[in-house]
Amino acid sequence: MRTVCVVGASLAGLLTARALRAQGYAGRLVVIGEERHRPYDRPPLSKDFLRGALGEADLALEGEGEQLEAEWRLGVAATGLDAAARRIELSDGGTLTADGVVIATGAAARRLPGTEGMAGVHTLRTLDDARALRADLLRARRLVVIGGGFVGAEVAATARELGLDVTLVEAGQAPMAAALGPDMAAPIAALHERRGVRLLCGTQVAEVTGGDRVDGVRLADGTLLPADVVVVGIGATPTIAWLAESGLDLGDGVLCDEGGATSAPGIVAVGDCAAWYDPALGRHHRVEHWTGARMRAVVAARTLLSGGIERPEPPRPAYFWSDQYDVKIQFIGHPHEADSVSVEAGDPAEGSFLAVYRREGLPVAVLGVNQVRLFTRWRRQLETAPVQAG
Ligand SMILES: Cc1cc2nc3c(=O)[nH]c(=O)nc-3n(C[C@H](O)[C@H](O)[C@H](O)COP(=O)(O)OP(=O)(O)OC[C@H]3O[C@@H](n4cnc5c(N)ncnc54)[C@H](O)[C@@H]3O)c2cc1C
Repeated sequence: MRTVCVVGASLAGLLTARALRAQGYAGRLVVIGEERHRPYDRPPLSKDFLRGALGEADLALEGEGEQLEAEWRLGVAATGLDAAARRIELSDGGTLTADGVVIATGAAARRLPGTEGMAGVHTLRTLDDARALRADLLRARRLVVIGGGFVGAEVAATARELGLDVTLVEAGQAPMAAALGPDMAAPIAALHERRGVRLLCGTQVAEVTGGDRVDGVRLADGTLLPADVVVVGIGATPTIAWLAESGLDLGDGVLCDEGGATSAPGIVAVGDCAAWYDPALGRHHRVEHWTGARMRAVVAARTLLSGGIERPEPPRPAYFWSDQYDVKIQFIGHPHEADSVSVEAGDPAEGSFLAVYRREGLPVAVLGVNQVRLFTRWRRQLETAPVQAG
């Protein structure tokens, strides 16, 4: 391979570029990124950065003095791909043909239709989003968060720490119920209530009200929640629209085998945009978490450089963490595969516990809430357990 092009200059793109160099690739390396920023870390955007405890320089993902010997094309988007020819079209009108392509275009925050252009309504995915949200929160008194996934729950926690009056509206039974299952999401709901968040669960939003600037959120039952700022945290979708005509197999993300190979030779996909085949689940599965992107980058680089001949062990099962207030939530596995869940250490009422999810008696997932040491032991056990074919 003489030219490898990485599309997406964030966590997955940077780490795959780094892995390519570490695995001996010495050819031309081009990194294309739609954002103008050098690669930065997203998890602090809803936590320490939003709170003001970290600055922009602290978000840098590149090591000081790190030299990847890459050509960085920042502020330029890939607008199309011909997978058979490995030719990439660029937003500046140029094209780039490569021997190897890494697709690492991540995901984009889902928006609420009808709120486009309304001041005070935010989604949170990029550094620019976080800057704008922080500036608004510092001037605001009342925040309504729509959606209690990770980003919504973390923003609610941070805004409480900043002293705002916070209401969180969630259509499901509890914040984070989709990720943790309903039983174990209940203690997270209680945590938010203890810290003063007004939780409205099982509740649908009818509309966001206001003119040029938001002034409230109307619920399906007619209740009007006044708001100075609204954060829409209703999930993210993989950034794959630019691949629609590429010829690649697409589903909920770029469909890949267990090593990150796409349906076209010489093209791998990694990170939030990629749905790798998961043998334990027996289907493709897209992991939208930091550690998933980090671990898969090394595997994807090996797949690309070996032409798919080397088959390194794929990472599994999925792991994520979330920090809310002074609580560290850690989770590994697939909660929806379980037929039972039980608390095996600590006490949810005291805000520190470990729960094990089982299927037919075998552990398939573990949740730790302020239980870092015990969780780490369980995590190691799940990561080294033999794959049970799904
Ligand atoms: C606010 C927030 C908090 C988070 N907190 C946690 C956490 O606590 N724990 C955890 O495990 N995970 C967390 N995550 C998830 C984690 O950050 C992501 O899993 C990770 O960023 C995925 O990396 P990625 O490189 O695949 O995608 P992204 O980080 O989304 O990067 C994709 C990049 O590709 C660029 N791009 C898109 N389209 C194009 C194109 N056509 N051409 C060129 N460039 C393009 C984008 O501009 C972007 O820079 C959080 C995410 C967010 C947004």
